[in-house]
Amino acid sequence: MSFLLIEHADALVTMNPNRDEIANGSILLEDHVIRHVSDQAGMHAYLVEHGIAVDKSIDAGGCVVLPGLVNCHHHLYQTLTRTLGTAAGLSLFDWLKMLYPVWAGLNSDGIYTSAKLGLVELLLSGATTVADHLYLFPNDSKLDDSIAAAHDLGVRFHPTRGSMSLGQSQGGLPPDEVCDSEDHILDDSVRVIEEFHDAADYSMCRVGLAPCSPFSVTAELMRRSAELARSYPGVRLHTHLAETLDENRFCVKKFGMRPIEYMESLGWLGDDVWFAHMVHVDEEEIDRLGHTGSGVCHCPSSNMILASGIAPIRRMLDCNVRVGLGVDGSASNDGNHLLGEARQAMLLQRVGWPGFESRADRFSARQALELATLGGARVLGREDIGSLQAGKAADLVAFRVDDLYHAGAGSDPVAALLTCMPTSVWLSVIDGRTVVEDGVLSGVDVENLVNDHRNESSRLLVRAGLRG
Ligand SMILES: [Zn+2]
Repeated sequence: MSFLLIEHADALVTMNPNRDEIANGSILLEDHVIRHVSDQAGMHAYLVEHGIAVDKSIDAGGCVVLPGLVNCHHHLYQTLTRTLGTAAGLSLFDWLKMLYPVWAGLNSDGIYTSAKLGLVELLLSGATTVADHLYLFPNDSKLDDSIAAAHDLGVRFHPTRGSMSLGQSQGGLPPDEVCDSEDHILDDSVRVIEEFHDAADYSMCRVGLAPCSPFSVTAELMRRSAELARSYPGVRLHTHLAETLDENRFCVKKFGMRPIEYMESLGWLGDDVWFAHMVHVDEEEIDRLGHTGSGVCHCPSSNMILASGIAPIRRMLDCNVRVGLGVDGSASNDGNHLLGEARQAMLLQRVGWPGFESRADRFSARQALELATLGGARVLGREDIGSLQAGKAADLVAFRVDDLYHAGAGSDPVAALLTCMPTSVWLSVIDGRTVVEDGVLSGVDVENLVNDHRNESSRLLVRAGLRG
């Protein structure tokens, strides 16, 4: 048994049912679980009452402490092809058509290295839990490669076994060379669930199934994936949906239905499903998401960089839709800063969406922080993360607010995390293990990692004829 005490935080944001924020806050971790949360005086009394001698204490004066942030949608492999297409200003379908042939050169080493690099970036921006969507497996690539990277870093991971089966020859968007047979996809899905999925509380790895999108898999694969996922406890379903007007037009033309109606016809609405994006939805569709408990991952930077549109997140929250936050793949962002993504969400919802005027009071910094913590936990179906309460997993982060970037923001240090420019974590604890302390990530040679990543990226670009 080991006790870690983090104390004297300027503010400790609990995200508990009362949304308490504790000034001069203190939190006691016992191994991988939160034991007690209190102000400084209350913590002192608790330690005396229970006769607890702490093994280590960290002074978080000058910091805001938060539940570890939760990233609900990503394609970590895309760190290898940042700026390709986005620099040129391509929209989603043209961007994908440019990148599919480049990604066809991916291999096992590339998946591992890119996942590790993206996860390091996420960790330093406050993420402690990350969902990833890997949907193409060229050469010797496997889901195992990204799981190994998360395991090596100690990140709580929700890898989703993605898939593409509807190639151009069958009317889909991707070239046939990056698609796979449906029998093989389902066999490999069983393999990774049985090998890696852990449905228990405090799990460090939960596998999901994630056919890529309505324009890259068949209806049959969507149906069979849902059946397979539901035959295991805690295996959730994930896909891209209603991301662009092009996609809506594709669904109406090919299936005679808008995307949500199409997914409903396949048994894909429910509290074990979450969709990335949900930009182009009408009022009735938002109600249907709320009533069925289906989750949404909001990816504001990606939606802006690909000019996909503005998701009506404020409206979704008002209709009790579960909403989390994701940086999306690095080739459509092109960064992995999750706290920065919360800022983008706040800004974009204030701007509004078509038919709604801009309003500065529509979305607060605290609402955006809730998307990035408790909201994400709900989307991933986790009761054990997302808030700082006794009995929850020992996942927390601290950001300094006494630095250059927050000077003068003492009236509200919590809001300042997003109204001022987002910074890197000063402290990160995942599953009770201190991963970042004093701003330094332990156990990773970042320079070597960046070098390996540069080599993998160059190899892909040379192979695709985009670099000599
Ligand atoms: Zn995506």
